[in-house]
Amino acid sequence: MEIDTTETVDERTLYAVAADALGGMVDVVVETERMAAMIAATRADQIDQCRRFAEVTVPVTTSRGMTPWSQADTARRTLVSELACALRLPERTVETLVMESRMLVHELPATLETLRAGDISYRHVKSIIDHANSLPETQRAEFEAAVLTYAAKLSVSQFDRKARTVRERMDPATITERHTKSVADRELSIENPRDGMAWLHHYLPATDAHAIYNRATEAATARAKGDDRTLEQRRSDFATELLLGGEIPGQAPSGIRPWIAVIVPVMSLLGHSDEPATLEGYGPIDIETARRLAGDATSFVRILTHPETGAVLSVGRDRYSVPADLKTWLRLRDGTCRKPGCSRTAVRCDIDHSHEWQHLGETAHNNLAHLCPKHHAEKHHTGWRLKHVGDGDIQWTSPSGRAYLSEPSMRMPVPSVQLPVPSMRMPVPSVQLPVPPVPLLVASPLLPVPSAYPASADADSFRI
Ligand SMILES: [Zn+2]
Repeated sequence: MEIDTTETVDERTLYAVAADALGGMVDVVVETERMAAMIAATRADQIDQCRRFAEVTVPVTTSRGMTPWSQADTARRTLVSELACALRLPERTVETLVMESRMLVHELPATLETLRAGDISYRHVKSIIDHANSLPETQRAEFEAAVLTYAAKLSVSQFDRKARTVRERMDPATITERHTKSVADRELSIENPRDGMAWLHHYLPATDAHAIYNRATEAATARAKGDDRTLEQRRSDFATELLLGGEIPGQAPSGIRPWIAVIVPVMSLLGHSDEPATLEGYGPIDIETARRLAGDATSFVRILTHPETGAVLSVGRDRYSVPADLKTWLRLRDGTCRKPGCSRTAVRCDIDHSHEWQHLGETAHNNLAHLCPKHHAEKHHTGWRLKHVGDGDIQWTSPSGRAYLSEPSMRMPVPSVQLPVPSMRMPVPSVQLPVPPVPLLVASPLLPVPSAYPASADADSFRI
């Protein structure tokens, strides 16, 4: 703030007093941050203690017909799963915490002590671990000694640049070797922000990335004439069309096709309600987009819902074969993998017999749940147990005895009759409809689907 030199002595004094007070408040924050660093050091000790204890005590579970996991894998998975649920953190975050704690305790002891003294933040520590972890074990102590003093003087980003430079000098691997290693980490991932949009991240070799970008740019430029979309919009649209509509080498054109599910409240579809549609695996999307998708869908399943509670009361069967109906019913109920904390969409999960089939578990809605491949394997190889407790709720018990409740994505109807049958081919349970239902549509369109939804027709006319 600029101080007016014409002010009185009293006003100056006031500024000075206020500045002192603010300084005192900043000191308190600095001290809190120092305590947070100390606590982070204690947490590293504790997590590493858990890891070492688990590695010698967690039993290897044998599941019929499956190769047992190694002791180390079983212990690691059990611990990560226990901590992730107890702390309500993603398992990847916990995996990182376990790795960081092990490195701090066993490979970077000076860093741990500096953190314990409150002299550096955990963000500085993460930078040290990240760079040290990319060096051979024999060089990590030397790297730590070379950079640690800077951590107490520099901001996190300044320090990270410094650490990167030191690491580059020490790294014995050639750029070719490092690139080869990094190529193995390539991946395609998705991030869901707001407003019905999502980021698709593609981590891949720079040569391929630039080639893709250049091709999309050329195509977008070639289409510029008479097109009022911006270059960015055309480039994005071209990439989308190519990924969704392009053929996959070695596969028949009818092989893997894009599939998405959209739940559209019919009252919104007809313009009588503002309730948004739901894109499976994402959440609410605007009704206009949903209308467009519904307009071009190749098949629908009619869903009946309670007009006030929105609870699903019945799943129609006129378009789907019987097993597909049951799968749809379960997918709507579960939404995602049912392991607490996991958000892998149900479409990418297995349908697991909670009580195993070979142990007389029934193929019934209250003995089936979606589990992603990772948690499906974990259920067989570790001490996690689950139990259906009614109304779609599943109670999980961790190997250490902690209980967690997994709630369904949708409360599905309680079936009036249960028919255990000896395979997955079980009809969707029939139900009595207590009230006049409001129909919903689930669309499974093949994309791209840019056509408009006819405004005057009723819902049934869109079943193909
Ligand atoms: Zn999962």
